[in-house]
Amino acid sequence: MVHVPFYSLDYVERDLGSSLGESVDAVLKSNWYIRGTRCAAFEEAFAAYCGAKVAVGVGNGLDALTLMLRAEIILGRFAAGDEIIVPANTFVATVLAVRAAGLVPVLVEPDRETCNLDVARLEAACSEKTRGILAVHLYGRLADMPAICEFAKSKGLLVFEDAAQAHGASNKCHPERSTTCEVDIQDLGLQPLSRVRFEGAGSAAAYSFYPTKNLGAMGDGGAVATDDLELAQVVRSLANYGSEEKYVNRYVGVNSRLDEIQAAILLAKLPHLDAWNRRRQEIAARYCAEIKNPLVRLTKVPKNPQSHVWHVFPVFCERRDELQKFLKDRGIDSLIHYPIPPHLQEAFAGALSRGELRHGPLPIAEELACTELSIPMGPGMTDEQVAQVIESINAFV
Ligand SMILES: *Cc1c(COP(=O)(O)O)cnc(C)c1O
Repeated sequence: MVHVPFYSLDYVERDLGSSLGESVDAVLKSNWYIRGTRCAAFEEAFAAYCGAKVAVGVGNGLDALTLMLRAEIILGRFAAGDEIIVPANTFVATVLAVRAAGLVPVLVEPDRETCNLDVARLEAACSEKTRGILAVHLYGRLADMPAICEFAKSKGLLVFEDAAQAHGASNKCHPERSTTCEVDIQDLGLQPLSRVRFEGAGSAAAYSFYPTKNLGAMGDGGAVATDDLELAQVVRSLANYGSEEKYVNRYVGVNSRLDEIQAAILLAKLPHLDAWNRRRQEIAARYCAEIKNPLVRLTKVPKNPQSHVWHVFPVFCERRDELQKFLKDRGIDSLIHYPIPPHLQEAFAGALSRGELRHGPLPIAEELACTELSIPMGPGMTDEQVAQVIESINAFV
């Protein structure tokens, strides 16, 4: 029996060897650590990878989300107190960002089979104050963007993406080019997906490069990808004290920048991202085909395999804690994403009655929080480890 860690970053050394050290070394020797050539080069490469016109590097994923929303307020497209629809079963950062921007999160139940926003519930969630939808591609699976965008268009809402778990997921059917952004989906007779524009106002996607994300830095990092150059300009300025010209402050900004060392690491890792995601998809395909236990429910297999990059592989079990211990006894680590949904967090106690949050009953989000277990997943897993996870889950009675 081998130990199966939840996630190991050993594959980075395996695939990049000493080149990563050399990239970092070059930054150390350059004596230039903030707002330099590596950040600019990474922004350009990442924008191209995403199929977006521009990417702006920031300090982390939470800031990417927050600054993208704050920029919309500065541009006059949102006003303080406007409502933004978010899924109820997301990582807390999605909700924190909406609050931090002075907007009101409206929590909506997910689809139980995909764990992403349930489009059928959007209509009922809207009020006269609703101005936008922040979709989360949870676990690495693209939310139903064509349907979300179509709904948003009919209501005049802006659409944003929390893509912190979905670097490289694509609605396109071209396995060699994967991004969360549409480029040639129209060739397939489908609607443009992630980058839909509404009446001249743009939408954007926020990314995190937290070390364990599908594309991770070796510290904190984040980015906003968008086709909206005006929005990008405001995000860039907000992230740099609200300043475009040194010592001239146009906005009340923050300090949130992607530093040169992190950018150099991300630049070195980006060319490997598609292969890493493919390995995740391979492992997921085996899990989906071979995990057969009536006590364990899996999410629906996506129609387009490229649209899911399996940041985590969730399973659902009524006796989740027992399953976790059972696996632990067999050398298999697991985690829960997430044990407490945002609306039940102490941070939001009283938020509902103060009008800082809006939601109805959320039984599905609460059920998912009580039953979810994330099993080992990552490009570094061996076939032997994958087999051990499958056998162990199938042995749980
Ligand atoms: C990781 C994550 C974030 C936050 O990213 P940080 O870089 O840790 O701030 C936001 N949303 C989701 C869905 C995430 O998984």
